[in-house]
Amino acid sequence: MKPAIAWLRQDLRLSDNPALRAASEHPLICVYVLDDETPGDWKMGGASRWWLHHSLAALDRALKDHGGRLVLRRGAAEKTIPALADETGAELVTWNRCYEPFAVRRDTAIKKVLTFNGVAVESFNGSLLHEPWEIATGAGKPFRVFTPFWNALRHKGDVAKPHQAPHRMEFRGHVASDTLADWDLLPRKPDWAKGFDWTPGEKHAHDALYAFLDHLAAYRHERDRPDHDGTSRLSPHLHWGEISPRQIWHAVRARAHSDGAETFLKELGWREFCIQLLYHHPRLPTDPLDERFEAFPWRRSEKDFRAWTRGQTGIPIVDAGMRQLWQTGWMHNRVRMIAASLLIKQLGIHWHKGQEWFWDTLVDADLGNNAANWQWVAGCGADAAPFFRIFNPVLQGEKFDPRGAYVRRYVPELAEVPDRFIHRPWDAPCPPADYPAPIVDLAKGRVRALDAFQSLKRQS
Ligand SMILES: Cc1cc2nc3c(=O)[nH]c(=O)nc-3n(C[C@H](O)[C@H](O)[C@H](O)COP(=O)(O)OP(=O)(O)OC[C@H]3O[C@@H](n4cnc5c(N)ncnc54)[C@H](O)[C@@H]3O)c2cc1C
Repeated sequence: MKPAIAWLRQDLRLSDNPALRAASEHPLICVYVLDDETPGDWKMGGASRWWLHHSLAALDRALKDHGGRLVLRRGAAEKTIPALADETGAELVTWNRCYEPFAVRRDTAIKKVLTFNGVAVESFNGSLLHEPWEIATGAGKPFRVFTPFWNALRHKGDVAKPHQAPHRMEFRGHVASDTLADWDLLPRKPDWAKGFDWTPGEKHAHDALYAFLDHLAAYRHERDRPDHDGTSRLSPHLHWGEISPRQIWHAVRARAHSDGAETFLKELGWREFCIQLLYHHPRLPTDPLDERFEAFPWRRSEKDFRAWTRGQTGIPIVDAGMRQLWQTGWMHNRVRMIAASLLIKQLGIHWHKGQEWFWDTLVDADLGNNAANWQWVAGCGADAAPFFRIFNPVLQGEKFDPRGAYVRRYVPELAEVPDRFIHRPWDAPCPPADYPAPIVDLAKGRVRALDAFQSLKRQS
């Protein structure tokens, strides 16, 4: 039998991997292609490259346990995949679908070339509960509002059961591979990732899931508390496909039903919603879904933007979030919303700038989730929070980090500030000298944001 190539992308796992399963009927070649040649189109950010390095290493180890290895190739996938098929005499190439517009274009082009060359192609759903085109309104249109999308998903019938890893994999003999270290995916000077407390890879994704399931019942109340570890922290594992949403769905459903379980499944629903939005609106990372916002009078201030990225805005909960992001490559969801809101609203800076920063610094950076959530906070997206609903970061901090434990963890300058003033240290009897005063007066920033929004309404 001729070999088959399983082209792995955002599905860096052996279990519940339909593309790998199909290819493993043949002498198998598992390949990952690093394409940093093709110009344009959201190149992987620094934190993503860090994760990718470790995840590929873990996948290679797992394949070695089965007697194989992961083949690494670098270059434009449009050339690399057909060339590898040619070189190895493969008769089949399989992959699990990606939904980013450039991935859809790329895969369509590669499929054409392979088919022309007489190589069969099979693609699968390995990353979503349901394909983006499977959940539609009565009129067959994509949803733009979450609740009806979620209701339709819930009524769709149960999610397909996940598969085990292939029992037997027989690997094609020697295929040349790059060396992972030569890809230079890790930061060196400076090594900004030394505080990352993650272990990428399929095994650890499952460990994280099972550790979280013990706390599932409390998720509904705990998920908004950045001072507690109440969320699953599965997002980077999910983005890289070290675990599939089907595996998570069924593991959760197998537990007793609880409000916590239902709320958590709904968050997986938000992931599906965001990814289907990107699929149906490929310009989601650049164009506001609400076109009126094209004319929004954004402020330009590199100084304010820089202070925001560095966690030096003088607003404690925002600075804690931005420093958590820099130190760990991840930020709690509630704090992402608060930090994004301050940037867009009180500081009046375009959501594109925040989106790009998150793209570079998040280990879970995901084009659909990132763009849809930035548009949501900006009030210009699908099912968005209205623009005029502006978070007050002091009240948010007091509500969700009441003793200031989260702030103190990431902003040590505030360690000695009494609880009462931890979210507004400028009112404390002795504000710490080494912490900046707020870069914006929150009340004035709010009025400026509302004025800008009014001007938009007048124009339209
Ligand atoms: C401005 C902004 C940017 C964001 N950018 C990203 C991003 O690039 N990548 C990303 O994965 N998430 C993004 N999110 C969504 C959310 O913050 C993260 O998914 C969540 O914090 C991940 O932590 P967790 O795995 O512990 O989540 P949990 O609370 O345990 O949720 C479980 C899973 O549900 C999904 N999920 C949860 N909340 C959301 C949401 N609001 N939108 C979509 N999916 C969700 C994630 O896959 C998550 O892993 C963003 C949110 C905001 C406000």
